[in-house]
Amino acid sequence: MVMMKFEKGLDNMKIKTVCGEIEKSELGVVAPHEHVLLDLTAFYQELPVPGIDDPSTQKVEMWNLGILSRDCYALKDNLLLDNEELAVKELMFYKNAGGTTVVDASLPGIGRSPEGLKRISEATGLNIIMGTGFYVGETHPEKLTSMTEEEIGQLMVDELVCGVDGICAGYIGEIGISEIFDDKERRILRAAAIAHKKTGAAINVHINPWTTNGIEAADILLDAGVKPEKICISHIDVENRENYILELLKKGVYVEFDNFGKEYYIRREVRNSGYGLFVHDTERVTLLKKLIDLGYLKQILLTCDLCLKNLLHTYGGWGYDHVLTNIVPMMEDEGITSEQIEAMLVKNPADWLC
Ligand SMILES: [Zn+2]
Repeated sequence: MVMMKFEKGLDNMKIKTVCGEIEKSELGVVAPHEHVLLDLTAFYQELPVPGIDDPSTQKVEMWNLGILSRDCYALKDNLLLDNEELAVKELMFYKNAGGTTVVDASLPGIGRSPEGLKRISEATGLNIIMGTGFYVGETHPEKLTSMTEEEIGQLMVDELVCGVDGICAGYIGEIGISEIFDDKERRILRAAAIAHKKTGAAINVHINPWTTNGIEAADILLDAGVKPEKICISHIDVENRENYILELLKKGVYVEFDNFGKEYYIRREVRNSGYGLFVHDTERVTLLKKLIDLGYLKQILLTCDLCLKNLLHTYGGWGYDHVLTNIVPMMEDEGITSEQIEAMLVKNPADWLC
């Protein structure tokens, strides 16, 4: 893929990776929302799974991949990405497909590992950008309750400026918003806005995918003075909710198509208002074309949000390279031009981050 050239020498044209600062022009092809290392096991709920004796200890294996395609949370083991060697192997598929930068969205409480990210960046040669902030309310550390928004914002500033043991975060996110969006989570968003105003750092917001809470989240950040072009609202594409996406786009924020590779038909017994169905990638690409034709190309980010073992090549998935390997040709088939594809994979994420 052809890299775009950027003007150098302007303010804020650098970005901090786990291995130090780089120029905006060095970002290249960016995956703006992935999880290199991740631990979502705190969210595991032990429910009976037909055909599995003990879903809390059962490892992900070939014979149970079908079960996971009907409920990706069925096995606790599927919620854990903790093997650095495996992460390196899997990320090399992304690098070999043309990827150069990975934005890691893991945070404290869900397995963020600054040293691990640095080791993996060194082993792969990929730029890895670490996040700061707090994920959904259930993962918030106790200390937050007695802190002011200003103090919480300062915690984020410290990680962006001084780092965690010398390893700096490069953006704020993914800030977590649950199905029931409460004051605890609203405070973190306002704290993120404070940190943004002190550093200029971009913000990524996780929204419970089957809700439309992105509207309120975007409004909170905008009301707090964050520029729309520094806000990215995640997980908009589990289902094709055109009205929701258009409402977000009209606010000027980025919308992130980040469910590529997740095409699950969740079994009825575990489906609920916060855990529903997923459309297929072909349907996502059809909507993408429509949004581009409506003039929203500059506000779209594409990535996989790889957050489950069964999405890795090793476990039968399409891996971190899925967008580059499989979705790019699908977009071309849909009539999206190579310039438009490059804008979404190179220019947009660089503009959002820097
Ligand atoms: Zn998320």
